[in-house]
Amino acid sequence: MKSLSLTEDLYNYLLSVSLRESEILRRLREETARLPMAIMQIAPDQGQFMALLVKLIGARKAIEVGVFTGYSALSIASALPPTGRLIACDISVEWTNIAKQYWQEAGMADSIDLRIAPALDTLESLIAEGQQGTFDFVFIDADKVHYPDYYERALLLVRPGGLIAVDNVLWFGAVIDDSKQDKDTVAIRAFNKKLCSDNRISLSLVPIGDGLTLARKR
Ligand code: CA
Repeated sequence: MKSLSLTEDLYNYLLSVSLRESEILRRLREETARLPMAIMQIAPDQGQFMALLVKLIGARKAIEVGVFTGYSALSIASALPPTGRLIACDISVEWTNIAKQYWQEAGMADSIDLRIAPALDTLESLIAEGQQGTFDFVFIDADKVHYPDYYERALLLVRPGGLIAVDNVLWFGAVIDDSKQDKDTVAIRAFNKKLCSDNRISLSLVPIGDGLTLARKR
C-alpha cells in the first residue's frame, strides 16, 4: 500500500501518542505560528524525526541552511552530544534574533554557531578552510532556487555515511500541478529529479511535513 493520507484527526492522534516536544520548543513554535511567515516553520513531528536521525548517525558536527526562528536548529542541536556543534546559516537578523532568545533559554547558545551571511558564502568558506568530509548532518531549508548549489556543497562537506536532509520537496503538492510553473516549483521538480539519479547517495523521500528528502552520502 502507499503512504496513508493523514486527516487532521489522525495527525493529531499521531502527535498525541508520539510528540515529546520540550516546553521551550513548544513556546517557540507557538510564537512563530503568530508570525506572517509561519508556514516556514517545520512541523513538530518533523523536528523530532530529524533529532532522532541525528542521534542514530551519532552526529557531532551539523550544518543548517535556513534558520528562520530556530525551531529546527534547536531540535538538531539538542540531539548532538555536549561537544557537538551546529553551524546555522541565515541572512535574516530579525528572524534569528527570535531564534537566539530561545537557544539561550534552552542552554544551547554555545552549541549553535550562527552565521549571518548568504549560506553559499558560509559553505564555501567551510570548504576553503578544509572542512570537507568532516560534517555528519546537513539540513537544507532555504531558498528553493539554490537547492542544487547548497546540496553540492553539503555533499562535499559531509563524511561518507553522513546525511543530508532537504525540506519542502513536495512543495505543498505543487510539484504535480502542471499549472504551477513559478521558479521555486520548477527548481524543486528539477532538484528531485536530479537526486533520483544521483549515484553518490542512497535516497529516500519521506512524506513528513512538506516532504523531506534524505540523502546519505556513499
Ligand atoms: Ca521548510
